This record gives sequence, structure tokens and C-alpha cells, in this order.
Amino acid sequence: MTNFLPLVEQFHSLQGEGYHAGKSAFFVRLAGCKVGCSWCDTKNSWDEKKYPSISIEKIIDRIKIAREKGASFCVITGGEPLQHNLDNFCKAIKKMTMGEELKPMKIHIETSGVNSISGSYDWITLSPKRHSPPKSYFLKNCNEIKIIINEIEDIEFAIQIKKETLKQYHPSKSEDGLKKEDKIFYLQPAWNNANGFSLAIDFVKNNPDWKLSLQTHKYLKIN
Ligand code: SF4
Repeated sequence: MTNFLPLVEQFHSLQGEGYHAGKSAFFVRLAGCKVGCSWCDTKNSWDEKKYPSISIEKIIDRIKIAREKGASFCVITGGEPLQHNLDNFCKAIKKMTMGEELKPMKIHIETSGVNSISGSYDWITLSPKRHSPPKSYFLKNCNEIKIIINEIEDIEFAIQIKKETLKQYHPSKSEDGLKKEDKIFYLQPAWNNANGFSLAIDFVKNNPDWKLSLQTHKYLKIN
């Protein structure tokens, strides 16, 4: 278990994508990703050697400030954050106390699901990749699934992932009141890809069990 993590950036903003879009959130972007998506919009995060290893305590200090200012949850993202063991980091976030009236801060993670799970989360966003499919743990335990759409093969992949996910359901209720069987399935067009937008919109129009997710932070030109 690590007490230091390679940090690309951390910032307080609004969640731009998925079920929690529009909510105040604090983001911790960790460096390191071996998945290698050609269309990745955070390629700068791939090489963890380019970034300093920061102590968990230092990262937590910034999370505390954001929490005081209104961040309702912490999103751990990357890169592929689960390339690192996050047990200690998640424990430290949960232990963080700002005042007796506040509950432990919720932790969200955004992952491609290729690594083993470490840490514990209130919300798991699984963004599986066609060329590097996720472990079944994530299909079973994620809260939302977000497939990035560039081309028609991504739609076929989305259909296949949903079938595999449905086989993994084990109903139970989360704090948000959503049941595990209420997993939310999103298609998210790749940014600046007109073909991806048109494919995703057509598919969602004809398949009401899927929803469209947009990178609203990019339209708003915020982090
Ligand atoms: S998994 Fe995410 S961070 Fe890694 S290459 Fe793919 S899009 Fe980029």
C-alpha cells in the first residue's frame, strides 16, 4: 500500500459527465495509464515518471479545503487511477473530519476496469475500452457505465458490454437509493468527433435504456 501518489493535478470544479454531472466535486487526477487509447484526451497523464510523488496527507489538505467550500464528493481519476493501490488514500479521505456535523466525504472513481480493485468507493464509473476489456468485478460493482463513441464498432461494443453486465447483477441498494440493477448506461461521444455524436444520438433515440453523456465541462470551458 502506498502513501505517495503521482499527481497530475487536483482541482475543485463541477462534475461534467454522467449521473452526477453539474455537482460540485473535487478532482484528483493521478498519473499513469497503460491502456493507450488513441483518442485519449489526457495523454499527458500516461507517464507517471513525469509527475512528482505527493504524500497522501498533502493531497488530503487540498480535499479538506474544497470540502469546506462545498465539494460534495471527491473524484479520483487519471490516467488509470487503479494502476496504484488506493487503499490508504481512500481510508485517509474517509477519516478526514472537518466538523462533527459532516459525514465522511464520498469517494468516486473513474476507471477503465483493467486493474484489480483497491480502495473503497461510493460511486464507480466504469469506462470500458474495446481494445482492453474490463475485469468482471467492475461490470458487477460499478454504478454507471460510460462507453466512448468514435465509430460504429464502439456501439457494437456497448451492446456486448451491457449483455455481459446484465449477467453480473447482484441486487443491493446503495446510499444514493439506486439499486445495483439500476446501473446507468451512457454513450458519450468522443469530443470533436461528429461521427461519434451522430452514432451516439441515433442509438440512444432508438434504445431508451441508454442515455447520452456529454462532457459539459468542455462546453463550459472549465476544468
Ligand atoms: S484509459 Fe483513459 S487515460 Fe488511459 S488511455 Fe484510455 S482514455 Fe486515456
